[in-house]
Amino acid sequence: MAKILVSACLLGHEVRYDGGDLAVGDPRFRALQDIHQLVPFCPEVASGLPTPRAPAEITNGDGRAVLSGHARIIDTDRHDLTENFLTGARLALAQCQAEQIEFAILAEKSPSCGSNVIYDGSFTGTRVPGVGCTTALLRENGIKVFSQNDIDDLVTMLP
Ligand code: SF4
Repeated sequence: MAKILVSACLLGHEVRYDGGDLAVGDPRFRALQDIHQLVPFCPEVASGLPTPRAPAEITNGDGRAVLSGHARIIDTDRHDLTENFLTGARLALAQCQAEQIEFAILAEKSPSCGSNVIYDGSFTGTRVPGVGCTTALLRENGIKVFSQNDIDDLVTMLP
C-alpha cells in the first residue's frame, strides 16, 4: 500500500477556479482507491485563494521558471498570484514530507498541477509543454508526479 497525493478536484472536490471538479471516471483510477491511500490536496485552496476564483496562467515559462523567479502567474483580472501559488506548492511538499508520500497524481493543464501540458499565459486556450509550479517543486524533491492520464505509468512504479 502506498500513499498518493491527489489533486482534490480529481477526487470530486469542487475546488477548481470555476467552482467545479474534475472527477475521474476511469476505472483504473478508482481501482487505486481500493489498494492505496489517496490523499486529496488542492494547492490553490491551501494557499488561501477562494473558490470560485479568476482563472490564472503562467506567463513566460512553466512551473520550473516560476520556482526560479523567471515566470509569474497572473489571473484574468491581471492580479499577480505567484506568491499564492508558491505557497500552495510548498504546502503540498510539506504534506508529502510529513506523510512520507512519494507519489502524486495531479490534474493536467493546471498552472499548479500540470505535469505534461499547461496553458501558455495568453488565455486563448493555447497549450504548451510544461509543468505547473506544484509539480515542479514536488519533482525537485523526488516526488514522482503523474497526471490522471498516466495512471498506467504510475501503477508500474507502485509497491
Ligand atoms: Fe485541482 Fe490542482 Fe487546480 Fe486545485 S490547484 S483545483 S487540485 S488542478
